[in-house]
Amino acid sequence: FVTSSMIVGLIGVYQIENGLKKLRIANFQLTTLSQIDQLTNIYNRGTYESRFAEQLEINKRIGNTMCVYIVDLDNFKKYNDGYGHVQGDKIIKLQAEMLSRVFRRTTDIVARYGGEEFVVVTSNNTQQQSTQLAQQIIAQWKTQKTPHNDNNNHGYVTCSIGYHFENLDVESQKESLVEKADKALYQAKAKGRNCAVQYQIDMA
Ligand code: GH3
Ligand code: MG
Ligand code: MG
Repeated sequence: FVTSSMIVGLIGVYQIENGLKKLRIANFQLTTLSQIDQLTNIYNRGTYESRFAEQLEINKRIGNTMCVYIVDLDNFKKYNDGYGHVQGDKIIKLQAEMLSRVFRRTTDIVARYGGEEFVVVTSNNTQQQSTQLAQQIIAQWKTQKTPHNDNNNHGYVTCSIGYHFENLDVESQKESLVEKADKALYQAKAKGRNCAVQYQIDMA
């Protein structure tokens, strides 16, 4: 009787441990799913918000620089109209891959902001490095030459980038950094698209 009770007990312990292991895996998968954008496999908006808040606090304390980029595909409504939404989705994925290739530090935050818009946050670069990184994105579409035949366009898929570089201080705020990058993006679109524009004080 004692031996059989022990065997039953051991089987019970094994089953509980196995169940717990499965739960842990499921939990991990759920966490990952809730943090990642399903189409592009990069961070989603929510993850961007929380990681940005965290990084900003760390970098403010050590007086680092940060740069926020907003990347928006050009004339994308027309792209969908001409080539279809499925092909449009492929371009959105390509943009995400391109950003992940260029911004590849573990501290870089590359996220889908929504639709065909992306946001990137980097820290501890110089102003010159920040500009070079933006130019690399513009240059990659230029090399790739994915056809986008529309009268208003450059003949291939392009994006516009607005970015804001800041030497952080105690006053630096997430919303204000993004707002400045957004104003610069507006200028990039107004300048004819397919370019990267850095925020300047007179854009305020
Ligand atoms: P602009 O150069 O001024 O940015 O022009 P635009 O047409 O890209 O800008 P707008 O914001 O007016 O349109 C964005 C379009 O992006 C609208 C929608 O058709 C498309 N879009 C948004 N999300 C998705 C998506 O998940 N998949 C696809 N295929 N298209 C999307
Ligand atoms: Mg667009
Ligand atoms: Mg847009």
